[in-house]
Amino acid sequence: LEEQLHHSQKMESIGRLAGGVAHDFNNMLSVIIGAASLAQGLTPTDDPITTLLAQILKAAERSSTITRQLLAFSRKQVTAPKPINLNALLLESEKVLSRLISEDIKLTFQPSLGLWTVLIDPSQVDQILMNLCVNARDAMPHGGTLTMHTGNTHIDEGYTHTHIDARPGDYVMLTVSDTGIGMTREVQEHIFEPFFTTKPIGEGTGLGLATVYGIVTQNNGFINVYSELGQGTVFRIYLPRYLADAKAPESQGRIPLEGTG
Ligand code: ADP
Repeated sequence: LEEQLHHSQKMESIGRLAGGVAHDFNNMLSVIIGAASLAQGLTPTDDPITTLLAQILKAAERSSTITRQLLAFSRKQVTAPKPINLNALLLESEKVLSRLISEDIKLTFQPSLGLWTVLIDPSQVDQILMNLCVNARDAMPHGGTLTMHTGNTHIDEGYTHTHIDARPGDYVMLTVSDTGIGMTREVQEHIFEPFFTTKPIGEGTGLGLATVYGIVTQNNGFINVYSELGQGTVFRIYLPRYLADAKAPESQGRIPLEGTG
C-alpha cells in the first residue's frame, strides 16, 4: 500500500510539473508555428528555405501534439460518472477502434452475457480503450489478433497479483489482449510510469498507460498485466460492480462520441 501511495504521489507531482511546462511550451510553440507559417507564405516555393520552413513546421506541430497530450494527462479531469454497461459501450466503440488499427489486425469482441454495471465516466472508458488498442496495434507491426472481452468476477481477500492493490469485492473485468511482441519483465515493471516508453522518439510519449492507471485508480479499480515475449500481452482492467444495479437497470452505453468518427 505504501508503494502504491508513493506511486500516486510521484505521478501527481510529475503530472503537475509536466502540465506547467507543457502550458508555457505550448504558447511558445504557437509563436514558432505562427512565424514559420508566415515566413512560408513570404518565400517563393522554389526557394530551398521553403523546405527548411516545412521541416520546422512539421517538428513544431509534432511537439504541439505531445504538449497537448501532456496537458490532458496533467489536468485534473472533471468527470461525470454514470452507471454503464461496458458491453454496450464497447459495441459502440468498435468501429472507431477498428479504424485505429491496421487492416492486418483482426479485432474481435467477446462480450459476456449478463454483465454487471459499472459507475464510470464513459469518456474515461474511451481513453482506456484507445490507449490499450493503440499499444496493441504498435505491438503487432506484422498483424495479429486484438481481442477485447468482458466478464464478471469476484475478488477474494488476499488477492495480490496486480499492479494496483486489489480490494475484495465484485468487479467487472475488461480484457484487451494482443498477439504481439510482448514485454520483458523489466519493461513490465515500468509501464505505468509517466514518460516510460520503448517507442522511437516522436512516436511514444509514455503517457498512455500512466493515463489508464490514473483512470482505473480514480475509479477504485485495478489492473493486471500478463505478457510473454514474442507471444503477446493481456491487460485486465477491473472496475467495481455498481451496487445500485437495481436502481438503474436500464442505463446502457452513452451518447455517441463527437468527432471520433
Ligand atoms: P507509449 O505507448 O507512448 O510508449 P504507454 O504508457 O502507452 O506509452 O506504454 C509504455 C510502454 O509499455 C510502451 O512503450 C511499450 O514498451 C509497453 N507496452 C504497452 N503496451 C504494450 C503491449 N500491448 N505490448 C507490448 N508492449 C507494450
